Amino acid sequence: GRKFWVGGNWKMNGDKKGINEIVKFLEAGPLDPNVEVVVGVPAIYLEYAKNNLPSTVAASAQNCYKVSKGAFTGEISPAMITDVGVKWVILGHSERRHVFGESSELVADKVVHALETGLNVVACIGEKLDEREAGKTEAVVFEQTKAISDKIKDWTNVVIAYEPVWAIGTGKTASPQQAQDVHIKLREWLKKNVSESVAKSVRIVYGGSVTAANCKELAKEADIDGFLVGGASLKPEFVQIVNANQ
Ligand code: 13P
Repeated sequence: GRKFWVGGNWKMNGDKKGINEIVKFLEAGPLDPNVEVVVGVPAIYLEYAKNNLPSTVAASAQNCYKVSKGAFTGEISPAMITDVGVKWVILGHSERRHVFGESSELVADKVVHALETGLNVVACIGEKLDEREAGKTEAVVFEQTKAISDKIKDWTNVVIAYEPVWAIGTGKTASPQQAQDVHIKLREWLKKNVSESVAKSVRIVYGGSVTAANCKELAKEADIDGFLVGGASLKPEFVQIVNANQ
């Protein structure tokens, strides 16, 4: 079985005081012990968050560069992330792709280097509204996945986050069926292009306007293995989302 995985992506929000508040509701929980919980923290607060979070909640970086060091002003490397004791990084988030112009190839290079450095990777993919309306959802998510699968062999430390761009921060959650449809297509693609065992074992989580109110229905779908939560991960309702299966 695939262990249910719930990530909170704090994006560029919060400060130490806000982190203390999040720590409080995570500590109060209680968090379902059968769920792997990870929170994506702004880089400058990674060490602070890591030192204060309950031991059952892992911290994650939200981005990193594709090499270990050098003249890349403003970037951080996987080596730096591991050096401060953090074990996860989110890569290829739609805001990285569409606000900061990251290509699928750059995202794939980052995934390769992060995995080589020993990090676990949340690899984000997802189509824009015009792409969905043009019937290109599968083509887009397959291309984004292929860029990565062309460069990695071992998917053990990868969680795929399917986040349709039109659902992010909009309140327009994908329906359970819409999300399940894409997740199953991704698994079929992985079976054909990577291997049957990867298709069976890799966790594919859904992101995009997940809330306490819609998480239970989404979690019932066979191929939805958890969530990547933005706005709601800053609020106490994140605990209910972690506990979606209860
Ligand atoms: P929202 O949950 O705020 O829609 O954000 C989703 C997301 O981008 C998580 O990475």
